[in-house]
Order: sequence, then C-alpha cells, then structure tokens
Amino acid sequence: PTFRSLGVCEQLAEACDALGWKAPTQIQVDAVPVALKGHDIIGLAQTGSGKTATFALPILQALLENPQPLFACVLSPTRELAIQIAEQFEALGSGIGLKCAVLVGGIDMMAQSVALAKRPHVVVGTPGRLVDHLTNTKGFSLRTIKYLVLDEADRLLNMDFEQEIDEILKVIPKERRTYLFSATMTTKVAKLQRACLKNPVKVEV
Ligand code: AMP
Repeated sequence: PTFRSLGVCEQLAEACDALGWKAPTQIQVDAVPVALKGHDIIGLAQTGSGKTATFALPILQALLENPQPLFACVLSPTRELAIQIAEQFEALGSGIGLKCAVLVGGIDMMAQSVALAKRPHVVVGTPGRLVDHLTNTKGFSLRTIKYLVLDEADRLLNMDFEQEIDEILKVIPKERRTYLFSATMTTKVAKLQRACLKNPVKVEV
C-alpha cells in the first residue's frame, strides 16, 4: 500500500514523500483508512511503530477540509513526547501553514500563552500544564476541539493524570473524534476508553 491508496490526500502524501517515508507502516495501513472514515480508534502500538503519523494524518486531512484554530488537542504523558508529537505535526503540516502549540511543564507559562494567542490549530500538552492554561490563560478554551488524542494512555494513567484528564474531558465537546493509543490494554485504560470513545475500532500491531 501507499499513503495515497490509504486515502491520504495528495498534499499530505507529498509531505510524507518529502520526509522520505517510502511506504506506510503497519499501524498506518491498518488505522489511517478507518480514521479517515470517521471512526474513533484504539491503537495498541509502541513508540517507533509510526503511531504519531497514524493520528496526525487523519487530523491534518480533516483540518484541511475545515480549517479552524484549536481544532485538535493531544495529551501526552511527558514533555519530551509532547515535543516529538508537535515536531511530527509541524513536519507533516509545514506545507499547509499549520500552527502548533506545546503546553508542557518546566517552561515559562507566558511564552506558551503567547503561542496560544496566535490561535494554533493543534495543541499538544501534558495534562497538568494544559489544565494550568485552561485556568490561567485568558481567552484559551477547548470548546472548538474536534479531535482529541490520548497518546500513551497507559503512561498517562500510571502518572496519575486522571484528575486532570477528567477536567479536560469536561471542557472538550462530546461531539468529536477520539484516538487513544497505548502500548498495553490495562483495566484503567479500558475504563478511560469507555469514558472517552464512541464505538471505537481497535487496531493492534
Ligand atoms: P512514532 O512511532 O510515531 O514515534 O514514529 C517513529 C519514527 O518513525 C518517527 O521518527 C517518524 O518520523 C517515523 N515514521 C513514521 N511513519 C513512517 C513511515 N511510514 N516510514 C518511515 N518512517 C516513518
């Protein structure tokens, strides 16, 4: 298969080509067409599988069809992963003027508030810092979010982000698509899945 045969649009397929990606990875083959059809996804996949592009490509394709600020929100357990996710969105979205903001701890809130004032299309953050911004950054809200990603959900839960995730879920519209990725399916992940996803399709590699 090729990115184009999975249903990825020409603009984004060209971005994949430009990154030197010769062919989609297994999780991309299995999940991207399902996501493009509009389903919620549970992806059981490790880092290195190409899982980031698995959720980034369908989100960017939907954004191209319906451009708006604060379109997608990605929750990451760690600062490092959040930065990697944002880099991947920016690499795939560079040709379409994508703006992305990273909201993580250990970095000045003010610089992140400035990034939010520029009305990014995608926010990637750790739950704690995201909640800090929801509380403290004037004008920032998740009311328009159409896509939510819970990345490395098992780690999000192991790091005791449950309360923050609950707060975020309260302010994100119920009418949205949700993608949950996890290396393992634990009892806690299954519970989170039931709380967040609607008729999800499970994809395992
Ligand atoms: P991830 O599993 O999302 O952390 O991705 C691992 C690495 O694989 C990242 O550096 C991606 O840039 C890269 N990658 C993602 N999809 C592909 C692909 N189809 N072909 C080659 N490399 C890829």
